[in-house]
Amino acid sequence: MVYVGIDLGGTNIAVGAVSEAGSILAEAGCKTLASRPYQAIIKDMAELVQKVIRKAHVTEDEVKAIGIGIPGVADDQGMVFNCTNLGWVNVPLRAEMQKYIHKPVLIDNDANCAALAESVAGVSVGCKSSVFITLGTGVGGGIIVNGKLWSGGHGRAGEIGHMCLVPDGVPCTCGRNGCVERYCSATALIRTAKQECYSFPNTAILKKAGGDINRVNAKLVIDAAKEGDASALRVFNSFVKYLAMTINDITAFFDPDIIVLGGGVSYAGDFLLNSVAELLPRYQMFKALPLPKLALAKLGNEAGIVGAAMLGK
Ligand SMILES: [Zn+2]
Repeated sequence: MVYVGIDLGGTNIAVGAVSEAGSILAEAGCKTLASRPYQAIIKDMAELVQKVIRKAHVTEDEVKAIGIGIPGVADDQGMVFNCTNLGWVNVPLRAEMQKYIHKPVLIDNDANCAALAESVAGVSVGCKSSVFITLGTGVGGGIIVNGKLWSGGHGRAGEIGHMCLVPDGVPCTCGRNGCVERYCSATALIRTAKQECYSFPNTAILKKAGGDINRVNAKLVIDAAKEGDASALRVFNSFVKYLAMTINDITAFFDPDIIVLGGGVSYAGDFLLNSVAELLPRYQMFKALPLPKLALAKLGNEAGIVGAAMLGK
């Protein structure tokens, strides 16, 4: 059988036909143009599904299910009740999709899909339990138990980004304060780097940004830290400390076999991985027990399509 995965993002829609083993057989995509009515966006998604089925040289009968990864949360009826990037509130995604394609339609959060993809075809293959942490504009998470995605009783499991890390800390987009996302995202790196730029204008961060503080991004900060710039290292080390504390909380609560780091900040590679691994024992309880394995995500952009497709397995 073949599975179709749709990675619905705020900017792009990417669709792929995926094999049982999680490899992409054919791909197609288009711009989301998120300001359009949702009906138009879902019609485009359905057309892309037909297109990849043709490109993969399979018949519709050979397609078992359509999976959709969304930057938000849906209920078990396929109703998307909140998708901030798309401006969607109470969109009947499954019902609208099934007007065009008569197949089971499964919907889950994009970070959950990435977690599933890594466990089927990425770095956590063969692990009974894993937690995937995406370090991007925000912080997302996905939980795998016994090889299956655990979305929780109401679909909100794995919202690592909104666990409280610093009581009464930095205000979060969710309306509360001190969430993990405010300290362990690319946005957090940029915020603290800008503060450093104001205090230490000679920092390599500002030089790399051509002297324009508005051009500071996570990659510049990490590059400057790798070169040993003192300000960049302060910013990076603070990020690593908060991430290590978060990983310790995850370990204390769930103790997975492996914790996978993905998203834009994981571009920092071994520099990030080794820094976190070095700090973890400081926060860990039961120090005689082994720590969960820590690894970088392997699938990159493909994870969205593969994970969404594997929702149908
Ligand atoms: Zn929050």
